[in-house]
Amino acid sequence: MTIQQHLAEIRARIAAARAASPRRQDVELLAVSKTHDADAVREAIAAGQHAFAENRVQEAAAKFPPLRDEYPDMRLHLIGPLQTNKARDAVRLFDAVHTVDRAALAEKLANEMAKQNKKLLCFIQVNTGEEIQKAGVSAAQLPELLNFCRTDAGLEIQGLMCIPPVAEPPETHFKLLAELATEYALPLLSMGMSADFEVAIRLGATHVRVGSAIFGVRD
Ligand SMILES: *Cc1c(COP(=O)(O)O)cnc(C)c1O
Repeated sequence: MTIQQHLAEIRARIAAARAASPRRQDVELLAVSKTHDADAVREAIAAGQHAFAENRVQEAAAKFPPLRDEYPDMRLHLIGPLQTNKARDAVRLFDAVHTVDRAALAEKLANEMAKQNKKLLCFIQVNTGEEIQKAGVSAAQLPELLNFCRTDAGLEIQGLMCIPPVAEPPETHFKLLAELATEYALPLLSMGMSADFEVAIRLGATHVRVGSAIFGVRD
Protein backbone atom coordinates (compact mmCIF):
# COMPACT_ATOMS: atom_id res chain seq x y z
CA MET A 1 0.00 0.00 0.00
CA THR A 2 1.08 3.59 -0.65
CA ILE A 3 1.42 6.34 1.96
CA GLN A 4 -1.75 7.83 0.51
CA GLN A 5 -3.67 4.57 1.03
CA HIS A 6 -2.30 4.17 4.54
CA LEU A 7 -3.38 7.70 5.40
CA ALA A 8 -6.88 7.13 4.07
CA GLU A 9 -7.21 3.99 6.17
CA ILE A 10 -5.88 5.66 9.33
CA ARG A 11 -8.22 8.61 8.88
CA ALA A 12 -11.19 6.27 8.57
CA ARG A 13 -10.13 4.40 11.72
CA ILE A 14 -9.69 7.70 13.58
CA ALA A 15 -13.17 8.82 12.55
CA ALA A 16 -14.68 5.53 13.76
CA ALA A 17 -12.81 5.65 17.08
CA ARG A 18 -13.88 9.25 17.58
CA ALA A 19 -17.51 8.32 16.94
CA ALA A 20 -17.14 5.69 19.68
CA SER A 21 -15.52 8.13 22.12
CA PRO A 22 -17.84 9.56 24.77
CA ARG A 23 -16.20 12.98 24.39
CA ARG A 24 -16.38 13.23 20.57
CA GLN A 25 -13.27 15.35 20.86
CA ASP A 26 -11.37 16.73 17.87
CA VAL A 27 -8.44 14.45 17.04
CA GLU A 28 -5.35 15.62 15.20
CA LEU A 29 -3.30 13.03 13.34
CA LEU A 30 0.43 13.66 13.64
CA ALA A 31 2.37 11.77 10.98
CA VAL A 32 5.63 10.67 12.63
CA SER A 33 8.20 10.96 9.84
CA LYS A 34 11.39 10.19 11.82
CA THR A 35 13.92 8.15 9.75
CA HIS A 36 11.85 8.73 6.59
CA ASP A 37 13.05 11.20 3.97
CA ALA A 38 11.57 14.44 2.65
CA ASP A 39 10.00 12.65 -0.33
CA ALA A 40 7.95 10.49 2.02
CA VAL A 41 6.77 13.68 3.75
CA ARG A 42 5.91 15.22 0.35
CA GLU A 43 3.86 12.17 -0.52
CA ALA A 44 1.91 12.53 2.72
CA ILE A 45 1.38 16.26 2.10
CA ALA A 46 0.11 15.48 -1.39
CA ALA A 47 -2.40 13.14 0.29
CA GLY A 48 -3.65 16.03 2.43
CA GLN A 49 -1.57 15.45 5.58
CA HIS A 50 -0.82 18.70 7.36
CA ALA A 51 0.88 17.91 10.68
CA PHE A 52 4.10 15.97 11.18
CA ALA A 53 6.16 14.91 14.17
CA GLU A 54 9.85 14.23 14.67
CA ASN A 55 11.68 13.01 17.75
CA ARG A 56 15.08 14.61 17.13
CA VAL A 57 15.89 18.29 16.63
CA GLN A 58 18.87 17.56 14.39
CA GLU A 59 16.96 15.30 12.04
CA ALA A 60 14.13 17.84 11.77
CA ALA A 61 16.66 20.63 11.09
CA ALA A 62 18.07 18.65 8.18
CA LYS A 63 14.73 17.64 6.68
CA PHE A 64 12.09 20.29 7.27
CA PRO A 65 13.27 23.83 6.43
CA PRO A 66 12.98 23.27 2.63
CA LEU A 67 9.61 21.56 3.12
CA ARG A 68 8.41 24.51 5.20
CA ASP A 69 9.31 26.86 2.36
CA GLU A 70 7.36 24.72 -0.09
CA TYR A 71 4.38 24.20 2.22
CA PRO A 72 4.01 27.17 4.61
CA ASP A 73 0.81 25.72 6.12
CA MET A 74 2.37 22.52 7.44
CA ARG A 75 2.90 22.04 11.17
CA LEU A 76 5.72 20.26 12.98
CA HIS A 77 5.61 18.74 16.48
CA LEU A 78 8.59 17.67 18.59
CA ILE A 79 7.85 14.37 20.35
CA GLY A 80 11.32 13.33 21.54
CA PRO A 81 13.39 14.42 24.55
CA LEU A 82 14.78 17.96 24.31
CA GLN A 83 18.15 19.07 25.66
CA THR A 84 18.12 22.56 27.11
CA ASN A 85 20.92 23.68 24.78
CA LYS A 86 18.73 22.78 21.77
CA ALA A 87 15.74 24.82 22.96
CA ARG A 88 16.53 27.70 20.62
CA ASP A 89 16.62 25.43 17.55
CA ALA A 90 13.49 23.66 18.74
CA VAL A 91 11.55 26.92 19.01
CA ARG A 92 12.77 27.94 15.56
CA LEU A 93 11.86 24.63 13.91
CA PHE A 94 8.73 23.40 15.65
CA ASP A 95 5.16 24.52 16.31
CA ALA A 96 4.63 22.27 19.33
CA VAL A 97 6.70 20.42 21.91
CA HIS A 98 5.27 17.36 23.67
CA THR A 99 8.19 16.67 25.98
CA VAL A 100 8.48 19.43 28.58
CA ASP A 101 9.60 17.48 31.64
CA ARG A 102 11.69 19.72 33.89
CA ALA A 103 11.88 23.24 35.25
CA ALA A 104 15.12 24.25 33.50
CA LEU A 105 13.70 23.28 30.12
CA ALA A 106 10.41 25.09 30.78
CA GLU A 107 12.32 28.25 31.64
CA LYS A 108 14.54 28.01 28.56
CA LEU A 109 11.59 27.40 26.26
CA ALA A 110 9.70 30.36 27.69
CA ASN A 111 12.74 32.61 27.19
CA GLU A 112 13.30 31.44 23.62
CA MET A 113 9.64 31.87 22.72
CA ALA A 114 9.76 35.43 24.02
CA LYS A 115 13.00 36.14 22.12
CA GLN A 116 11.72 34.67 18.85
CA ASN A 117 8.23 36.07 19.41
CA LYS A 118 6.79 32.64 18.64
CA LYS A 119 4.41 30.57 20.75
CA LEU A 120 4.63 26.80 20.64
CA LEU A 121 1.90 24.52 21.87
CA CYS A 122 3.36 22.85 24.98
CA PHE A 123 2.67 19.47 26.54
CA ILE A 124 4.23 18.03 29.68
CA GLN A 125 5.43 14.44 29.24
CA VAL A 126 4.30 12.19 32.08
CA ASN A 127 6.21 8.96 32.71
CA THR A 128 3.04 7.07 33.60
CA GLY A 129 4.90 3.75 33.85
CA GLU A 130 7.57 5.20 36.17
CA GLU A 131 10.23 3.71 33.89
CA ILE A 132 13.80 4.70 34.79
CA GLN A 133 14.97 4.85 31.16
CA LYS A 134 12.05 6.99 30.03
CA ALA A 135 11.76 10.77 30.06
CA GLY A 136 8.87 12.59 31.68
CA VAL A 137 7.78 13.60 35.16
CA SER A 138 6.03 11.17 37.46
CA ALA A 139 2.35 11.78 38.10
CA ALA A 140 3.33 12.81 41.64
CA GLN A 141 5.76 15.49 40.36
CA LEU A 142 3.33 16.88 37.81
CA PRO A 143 1.62 19.52 40.01
CA GLU A 144 4.96 21.01 41.02
CA LEU A 145 6.19 21.29 37.43
CA LEU A 146 2.86 22.69 36.26
CA ASN A 147 2.95 25.26 38.98
CA PHE A 148 6.51 26.21 38.07
CA CYS A 149 5.57 26.57 34.39
CA ARG A 150 2.58 28.76 35.19
CA THR A 151 3.87 30.99 37.96
CA ASP A 152 7.67 31.07 37.57
CA ALA A 153 8.55 30.36 33.95
CA GLY A 154 5.47 31.93 32.37
CA LEU A 155 5.15 28.94 30.07
CA GLU A 156 1.62 28.09 29.10
CA ILE A 157 0.97 24.33 29.16
CA GLN A 158 -1.93 23.08 27.06
CA GLY A 159 -1.72 19.34 27.51
CA LEU A 160 -0.10 16.11 28.64
CA MET A 161 1.72 13.40 26.71
CA CYS A 162 2.68 9.82 27.57
CA ILE A 163 4.37 6.78 26.05
CA PRO A 164 3.13 3.66 27.86
CA PRO A 165 5.59 0.87 28.68
CA VAL A 166 5.88 -1.48 25.68
CA ALA A 167 5.06 -4.63 27.61
CA GLU A 168 1.87 -3.38 29.26
CA PRO A 169 -1.64 -2.84 27.97
CA PRO A 170 -1.86 0.92 27.31
CA GLU A 171 -5.37 1.51 28.72
CA THR A 172 -4.33 2.12 32.33
CA HIS A 173 -1.73 4.64 31.20
CA PHE A 174 -4.11 6.48 28.87
CA LYS A 175 -6.75 6.57 31.61
CA LEU A 176 -4.29 7.95 34.14
CA LEU A 177 -3.14 10.63 31.70
CA ALA A 178 -6.75 11.61 30.93
CA GLU A 179 -7.56 11.84 34.64
CA LEU A 180 -4.53 14.04 35.28
CA ALA A 181 -5.50 16.33 32.38
CA THR A 182 -9.00 16.70 33.80
CA GLU A 183 -7.69 17.32 37.31
CA TYR A 184 -5.39 20.12 36.12
CA ALA A 185 -7.79 21.55 33.51
CA LEU A 186 -5.54 20.80 30.53
CA PRO A 187 -7.50 20.44 27.27
CA LEU A 188 -5.03 18.45 25.13
CA LEU A 189 -3.92 14.82 25.35
CA SER A 190 -1.09 13.45 23.20
CA MET A 191 -1.37 9.67 23.37
CA GLY A 192 -1.66 6.72 21.03
CA MET A 193 0.71 5.41 18.34
CA SER A 194 0.34 2.98 15.41
CA ALA A 195 -0.55 0.02 17.61
CA ASP A 196 -2.99 1.70 19.98
CA PHE A 197 -4.31 5.01 18.65
CA GLU A 198 -7.92 3.83 18.59
CA VAL A 199 -7.80 2.89 22.27
CA ALA A 200 -6.24 6.26 23.02
CA ILE A 201 -8.98 8.13 21.13
CA ARG A 202 -11.71 6.28 23.01
CA LEU A 203 -10.01 7.43 26.22
CA GLY A 204 -9.81 11.07 25.12
CA ALA A 205 -6.69 11.57 22.95
CA THR A 206 -6.67 14.85 21.01
CA HIS A 207 -3.31 14.17 19.28
CA VAL A 208 -2.28 10.73 18.03
CA ARG A 209 1.30 10.12 16.91
CA VAL A 210 1.33 7.58 14.10
CA GLY A 211 4.52 6.58 12.30
CA SER A 212 4.94 3.04 10.98
CA ALA A 213 1.26 2.59 10.07
CA ILE A 214 1.66 5.50 7.63
CA PHE A 215 5.25 5.34 6.42
CA GLY A 216 6.04 1.66 6.93
CA VAL A 217 8.50 0.03 9.32
CA ARG A 218 11.64 1.94 10.25
CA ASP A 219 15.14 0.52 9.75
C1 LIG B 1 8.34 6.96 16.95
C2 LIG B 1 7.34 7.54 17.86
C3 LIG B 1 5.96 7.39 17.63
C4 LIG B 1 5.39 6.62 16.44
O1 LIG B 1 5.50 5.25 16.66
P1 LIG B 1 4.80 4.21 15.65
O2 LIG B 1 4.69 2.97 16.47
O3 LIG B 1 5.72 4.05 14.50
O4 LIG B 1 3.50 4.76 15.27
C5 LIG B 1 5.08 7.99 18.51
N1 LIG B 1 5.51 8.69 19.58
C6 LIG B 1 6.82 8.85 19.84
C7 LIG B 1 7.22 9.63 21.04
C8 LIG B 1 7.78 8.27 19.01
O5 LIG B 1 9.08 8.45 19.29
